[in-house]
Amino acid sequence: MNRSSAVSTAMLVVLWSWSFPARALNFNLHFLPSNSPQSITAFTQASQIWASLLSDAVTVNLTVGVSSSGAGVLGSSTMSYFSSSYLDVYSKLQADATSLNDKKALSSLSSSGSLGLLINHTSDDPYGSGSVSWYLDSNGSANNSTIMLSTANAKAMDLFHYSGMDGTITFNSYYSFDYDRSDGISVGSYDFIGLAAHEIGHQLGFVSGVDYLDSTTFQKQSYTADHFTYVEPLDLFRYSQSSKALGVIDWTADTREKYLSLDNGATAIASFSTGKYYGDGRQTSHWKDYLDIGIMDPTAAPAEWLTVSSNDVLAMDIIGWDVVKTSNAVPEPSAWQLVAVGFSCAVMVRRYRAPDKSAH
Ligand SMILES: [Zn+2]
Repeated sequence: MNRSSAVSTAMLVVLWSWSFPARALNFNLHFLPSNSPQSITAFTQASQIWASLLSDAVTVNLTVGVSSSGAGVLGSSTMSYFSSSYLDVYSKLQADATSLNDKKALSSLSSSGSLGLLINHTSDDPYGSGSVSWYLDSNGSANNSTIMLSTANAKAMDLFHYSGMDGTITFNSYYSFDYDRSDGISVGSYDFIGLAAHEIGHQLGFVSGVDYLDSTTFQKQSYTADHFTYVEPLDLFRYSQSSKALGVIDWTADTREKYLSLDNGATAIASFSTGKYYGDGRQTSHWKDYLDIGIMDPTAAPAEWLTVSSNDVLAMDIIGWDVVKTSNAVPEPSAWQLVAVGFSCAVMVRRYRAPDKSAH
């Protein structure tokens, strides 16, 4: 499906534009006819949560739909992607480093134009083709010098100008959703606003390219390390004890603990999920499950109110978003697609939230 068909006017019933005055994050939301008035209102409220937290003068274009895909998935995202040199991303992050966390995060990054990483499952793994055993790859080749970003994230960094659709979010009508938080989240229903905010979080760049390594390996596809030019901005802060010891990020799909760190692994801020197939069973584009780290946790339970946490905001901050300066920035609970934008193509991964988190 190409972009023009994805956003053909015949499919659109509502074009909702919402914005803050002055410098602010804007969302253009294209609601497919499958939405109800309730889902349109609730999704718009979810976009306002992020708009109240991030101040970049960027417009994010999203298509929102609802369809049934059976049990297991509450919502999913597909994104347009943009490929850039690591050096360009580094200099944009440098120019964008406004907060203390930005500066700390930046100082942990290599300024040499390439990054070292631990990787596994590659056809050129020295421990055997496809081995789960990790190895150090710091040879400065394509996968060490290329960053893949969601287009929304790339716009936040001012890497390029793009007015096309940034992504599509689809909710699964198999499940019952609560669209109105004013009386809490009903027993047996899922927090639609929270789920929408979660999916928007992926669109904004809370993504790990390790999901691609994990899924291609599971599909018995075999590639050299150089194929994996899918290190995402969030991956620049993905560490393990082993990678810390070698002074590089950890880009492996296995069960060892991985965590967000702004100081080359010395301090673990929060743990990540480690892989649907070769890790802990959850996609790596999430926090670790069951620890209530933030809205980017991989699962949700019925009646659970999903809240954007300071960890979620920190992640956005260090990948190139500007956080609104307030004493209490976090509000109270109140397919693969190819995009060629002059550079290399891009990938899309389906993100999901499994609905099996135990209530607590
Ligand atoms: Zn997710």
